[in-house]
Amino acid sequence: MTVPVFYSSSYSIAGGFATVGKSSVVARLLRDEPIDGIDLREPRPATAADVARVHDPDYVARVVSGERGQFTEHGSEFVVSVMASTGGVVSAVEAALSTRGCAGSLSSGLHHARHDRDSGYCTFNGLVIGARRAIDLGARRVLILDFDAHCGGGTASLIERLRLDGITGIEQVDVSVSTFDHYPSSAWAVCWIADGRNYLGTIDEALDLVLDPFSIDLVIYNAGMDAHESAGGASGITESVIRERERMVFSWARWHDLPVAWVLAGGYPSATFTIDDVARLHRITAEESARAYG
Ligand SMILES: [Zn+2]
Repeated sequence: MTVPVFYSSSYSIAGGFATVGKSSVVARLLRDEPIDGIDLREPRPATAADVARVHDPDYVARVVSGERGQFTEHGSEFVVSVMASTGGVVSAVEAALSTRGCAGSLSSGLHHARHDRDSGYCTFNGLVIGARRAIDLGARRVLILDFDAHCGGGTASLIERLRLDGITGIEQVDVSVSTFDHYPSSAWAVCWIADGRNYLGTIDEALDLVLDPFSIDLVIYNAGMDAHESAGGASGITESVIRERERMVFSWARWHDLPVAWVLAGGYPSATFTIDDVARLHRITAEESARAYG
C-alpha cells in the first residue's frame, strides 16, 4: 500500500508565517530524499460549500472575498492558499477512507479556528471540516488526535456545536504541553496537559483510554511539532521522543486497523532552529506513517 500525501504549491505563501510557509520546505525534503511508500499528490481545492458544513456561511463568504481571515495582507494569494490547504485535508480524509489505509496532507489542521472567526493564526478548522466530510461519506465515528503543543479549543467548540445539530460522531483526544486554548474536558473532547518528563507516558495513557478503538471509522491526526523542545515546546521533548510518539500513534492505529489522515500542525523556527530543522521533524510523521501503512 502507498500513503498518498497531498501537497500543492498553492499551500505556501512566500514570506508568510511558518504555518503557511513550511509546507513547501517539507515537500522539498520529500522530493529530494523520497520515502518508500510516500506518494506526493495534488489535492482538489476545498469549496466554500465544503467549509460551510462546519463554519458560519457569512464568515466563509467574507474569507473567500478576502475581507476576513488571518494573513489577509497577502490578498487573493491567501484565499487560494486557504482553500488549497483545506482541500488537502479533505483529500487526505477521502483517500484514507476509500483505501481503509493512511493518507496525509502537508497543510495544517488549524485547531484554533472558531465557527465564525479566525483565532491563533487559524482561519478554517481543517480537522473538523475533514471529520464532517467523513461523516457525510458515511463514517459514524471519527477520532481527532491532536498532539500539537497547544490545546485545540477551536476544534472542541466546533464538535460541541455540531452535536447541537445532531452530528454526534466526532470526538477528540488532545495532548498538549501548553494551556493555550484550553477547554474543559467532556465525554467527546478530552484535553491532557503533559510536560517534557511525562510526555510519552501521557500519550500512551491517552491512547490507552480511547474506548472501543475498533469501532472508530477514521482517525484524523494533527501532528504538531511544536511540542519539540527547540520548535516551541517543552524541555526534554527531543527528536527521538517525537519519533517515538509518531511510532506509537501509527502502530496503535494500525493495530486497530484504522484509516488515518494526518496533517501538519505547529512547529516554529527560531534563531537556533531553522525552518529546515522544523521540516525535518514533520518528515518523521511521513516516515512513520509509511513504516506502519506503506
Ligand atoms: Zn501549536
